[in-house]
Amino acid sequence: MRTIEDLGNLEGKTVLVRSDFNVPLDDQRVITDDGRIRAALPTLNKLINANAKVVVMAHLGRPKGQVKPEFSLAPVADRLSELLNRPVRLASDTIGEDAHRAIAAMSNGDVVLLENVRFDKREDSKDDAQRAELAAEYAKLADAFVSDGFGVVHRKQASVYDVAQLLPSAAGDLVFKEIDSLSKATKNPARPYTVVLGGSKVSDKLGVIDNLLGKADRLLIGGGMGYTFLKAQGYEVGHSLLEEDQIDAVKNYMKRAQETGVELLLPVDVVIADKFAPDAQRKVVSATEIPADWEALDIGPKTAELYAQKIADSETVAWNGPMGVFEFEAFAEGTKAIAQAMQDAHGFTIVGGGDSASAVRNLGFDESKFGHISTGGGASLEFLEGKTLPGIAVLGDE
Ligand code: ADP
Ligand code: MG
Repeated sequence: MRTIEDLGNLEGKTVLVRSDFNVPLDDQRVITDDGRIRAALPTLNKLINANAKVVVMAHLGRPKGQVKPEFSLAPVADRLSELLNRPVRLASDTIGEDAHRAIAAMSNGDVVLLENVRFDKREDSKDDAQRAELAAEYAKLADAFVSDGFGVVHRKQASVYDVAQLLPSAAGDLVFKEIDSLSKATKNPARPYTVVLGGSKVSDKLGVIDNLLGKADRLLIGGGMGYTFLKAQGYEVGHSLLEEDQIDAVKNYMKRAQETGVELLLPVDVVIADKFAPDAQRKVVSATEIPADWEALDIGPKTAELYAQKIADSETVAWNGPMGVFEFEAFAEGTKAIAQAMQDAHGFTIVGGGDSASAVRNLGFDESKFGHISTGGGASLEFLEGKTLPGIAVLGDE
């Protein structure tokens, strides 16, 4: 994989950088977690210090190929400017007149942010020719391309994949760090290697489970996906999240885990609620005794302790997906316990997944005590699954 250093002297060169600024916004369009913007700073500062003209492109949300003001990168430009401690001019388009004008007016070390790349439907088109056409327009803007949006490298999109083929291109520091850290779980992981999986849907994570059954020593299952496993074992799960159509797949995984000697653990106790609400009535029950008219919204304390022990006794731990509805304080304990165990672990710890990373930050944990907190959701999962990510492959062999 080529790095920024491989691009040579960048003084006075216009460098197009793809970053991942897809941050969560509240109703007032205030950024609620700026982790992804912070993660982009090392690359941007490196290019600024190299006296390049730094042109950044990114997406926000899913405007589906239309210019929609509510998906403008304006809040990101403001936050980025604060964090870089220098002006960031937001161009009102991506390849249009304003972008060209803004770039023409740049001095060395300046930063311009182009407007949401997904305002153009060719950006994520399935049609190669359409993407290539747009990528050719991107390429006209710059002398070199740096791919630093790790959260999008699993996507074959014009600003990620196609443009990298048209300009001298390299991985930015964030992408490099992500691959370097995540590789500790995929290439000869130190053992025992434990994977903690949670989140809402089994169907989102089938690929990971499938792939990890051949790699991990232990799989600890929690979160909403756990109830499909409990149901597959014949237990009542009440109104808990359940994917009936995944029961067969889950049965098959449990069988394969047994055959291959992978320790697959399910919750032994759960926290149940009489409704899906922050002020619901709350009870701890055995995982095999969920009443038919209640729903489980978190793992229970015995499960949390058991999983924490398994994490403490591991050399590599990868965690994806919250253990419960951590957005409700009453059902955040399980997720907190896992985050705490990860923070205290002596093994190398990786947190992947947008909601999991937000949970770690928003529940007040010390990010520096984790081995690696990935900025990627789908990208980190696909990497852990062992898939080839197009946005990485295009940057040259490792
Ligand atoms: P990530 O973004 O880290 O990959 P997911 O998107 O898969 O995680 O899942 C996160 C969501 O799962 C959270 O919004 C959380 O509320 C939800 N969740 C976790 N456990 C449960 C549960 N028991 N019932 C309903 N939702 C759950
Ligand atoms: Mg998520």
